[in-house]
Amino acid sequence: MSATIPFTLPQWAEHFRLMYRHRNSIVFPSNVDKAIFVTYAISTVGQVVRGRADKEHLPSRLATLCASVFAVVNISDDNRLLCRGLMHKYPERCCAYCKHDICDCGDNRPRFSSTANEESGQLNWKFYDWQTMLDIRYGAYNRDKGPYFIFARLSEEAQELLLFVSGFRQSNKEMVSGLDWMAQLASESADIVAWTLALASYYHVDMTMVMKNYYGKVCPGCKKEECGCPLIFRGSDETALVGTISK
Ligand SMILES: [Zn+2]
Ligand SMILES: [Zn+2]
Repeated sequence: MSATIPFTLPQWAEHFRLMYRHRNSIVFPSNVDKAIFVTYAISTVGQVVRGRADKEHLPSRLATLCASVFAVVNISDDNRLLCRGLMHKYPERCCAYCKHDICDCGDNRPRFSSTANEESGQLNWKFYDWQTMLDIRYGAYNRDKGPYFIFARLSEEAQELLLFVSGFRQSNKEMVSGLDWMAQLASESADIVAWTLALASYYHVDMTMVMKNYYGKVCPGCKKEECGCPLIFRGSDETALVGTISK
């Protein structure tokens, strides 16, 4: 598959499935563990946003954040799940809230109604296409609000995902409005990817290149097509090698 890099999002889902299926089953065995991986990845991005870590770390941390979202959506066997979530929340035609090509929702978004089309070419979109469209639609507003706003929204979405997979939000209004569990998972995950791309755009990071560089062929940790990274235990004041993910 590497000849076709950069992948479409469904191709990335398959790529991450092959690379991390085994690792994720060991390191992040439950759905909640996978969602915690997302919140951890976001916290490392936050360190860069607030100046606690150097900007040069931002691309790899954004890539790991995307990888963590694939760990979540790959709970489903459907490689198109994340893409469907994005199509639903962020259809090609217009903002799903205000219905304008360039969003003018501002701080008070009207009611959501998707114009997503299952036949849409968005299933074949690559990170570049999503990042470009989202930046045209929402970029000016986000740049005006600044990186702390974008990061706050990203964190909020991760919390929503965590609450959802933990069962804390089982009775919320989206659930009773008919979205099934997987569609809701897709929707929450899509929001995280959208805000990740917003942050990337704010800092002029090309996520297509970054994903290709960090995850395009092999796991960046162990350099294998199917991850066999060492399994590290990090205690409060000690780090211990407790095994390996290799089969
Ligand atoms: Zn809008
Ligand atoms: Zn690895």
